[in-house]
Amino acid sequence: MQRHTKIIATLGPAVASASGILALVEAGIDVARLNFSHGDHEIHRAMAGWTRDAAKKTGRTVALMQDIQGPKLRVGEFAEGKVTLEPGREVTLVADGAVGNANVIPVGYDPLLQDVVPGDRVQLADGLIRCEVVERTEAGLVAAVRVGGVLSDHKGVAFPDSKLTLEIITPKDEVDLAFGRELGVDYVAASFVRSGDDIRSVAQLAGEAPIVAKIELAQAYENLDDIIGPSSAVMVARGDLGVQLPLERIPLIQAEILKKTNAAGRISITATEMLESMTKSPRPTRAEVTDVANAVMAGTDAVMLSGETAVGDYPVETVTAMASICVAVEEGTLSAREHHSIPFVGDGNTVASAVSQAATEIAVNLEAQTIVAFTESGNTARLISKYRPEARIVAFTPNESTLHHMALYWGVSPHPFERRTYTDEELAAAADILEREGVVSRGDRVVMVAGVPPNVQASTNLVKVHVIGETSGGLGS
Ligand code: PEP
Repeated sequence: MQRHTKIIATLGPAVASASGILALVEAGIDVARLNFSHGDHEIHRAMAGWTRDAAKKTGRTVALMQDIQGPKLRVGEFAEGKVTLEPGREVTLVADGAVGNANVIPVGYDPLLQDVVPGDRVQLADGLIRCEVVERTEAGLVAAVRVGGVLSDHKGVAFPDSKLTLEIITPKDEVDLAFGRELGVDYVAASFVRSGDDIRSVAQLAGEAPIVAKIELAQAYENLDDIIGPSSAVMVARGDLGVQLPLERIPLIQAEILKKTNAAGRISITATEMLESMTKSPRPTRAEVTDVANAVMAGTDAVMLSGETAVGDYPVETVTAMASICVAVEEGTLSAREHHSIPFVGDGNTVASAVSQAATEIAVNLEAQTIVAFTESGNTARLISKYRPEARIVAFTPNESTLHHMALYWGVSPHPFERRTYTDEELAAAADILEREGVVSRGDRVVMVAGVPPNVQASTNLVKVHVIGETSGGLGS
């Protein structure tokens, strides 16, 4: 069975060569993530080039996702490089760049004293150290250490209860986004967004690239509906989200984010620590296998690898393991009847959504193995995908950026296509291509979804059951 769930792999030192990335592409990644929290432009340019080369060499479509750092707050530096914060003690958080010590913690954030109030929580070092603000003084925020630990230079600091007035785009992001436009990245993942307006701000600097909203702040989770609207995809960024919100709530929050994202017709991504132990081991733990399986069963479009492929010892083995888990779960769950439980996908284009739902039902009832979509923007393929057919979705497009975007769509095989003047020419050409490539055989029924007239965005209005080898006619408009 062909895998339906897509795999995103983060690139990094572990695979930073033409052969390293080729091996990941051969193992089945669909999207390569360039993490701009690490590495300089030179290495990102090289990795983007190696990814494009590997895709060409293998004949696969692989999208490039630029993940910008966003306004992540970090502590400054300490005289000794680190300090030990004892539970029960009080420390002062200051907004300036002072060198810190066990009593004073520098946080590089000017409006600290306006935005954070007594009672707000402060999480340091990825949530390992927990404090609570007890007083605001002229010198800074006095915080009581509730759970202590060792805090070293530049560790992350989070204020889950505070409404921070940070600019969503940092000067570094602005430079990185300009670089991403130059590279022609296919997606931009926006970090630490809080609202739909934050997404719109990033989109203004992302060129044509659709935006992936990373849900990693408590505030982002609170504003989920507002964020989904202007986003193309939504990522459950469990790393930072697990610092902001109690870890035990993350599974239900994940399920809710996936459900809402799918219902809105957007692409859903589950990320972080999915096969974490494979950073150092050639085999995943039972719990990790179950975590990936649960995400697939909960309807995620894509699963993401971070450190496992960026800095791990077994990047290729990790992708292979992830691919096998996805296929095993899909084989067990994509039974012919299941998709009936998927309610109508509320997306702007209701005609296209209704046609896509109908095409999926026809494929089930006729046991057709292939659904074909002709698409300018990718919307038709995305909508069919949202109805989760067991059949493969071959999406023909004349548009190169659409081709790359569709790499992330569940169950969709993107296919380049030359524009045809008439719809019946399109259908016949697609049938010929699929037969020539051995995807279908004479007599197979293929469910085709198209628009009359063709080559017009948002015109999807037609579903046809095409029998391979039989000539079609009568759609010459
Ligand atoms: C996360 O926090 O889960 C995440 C995906 O973001 P990053 O890897 O940029 O920390």
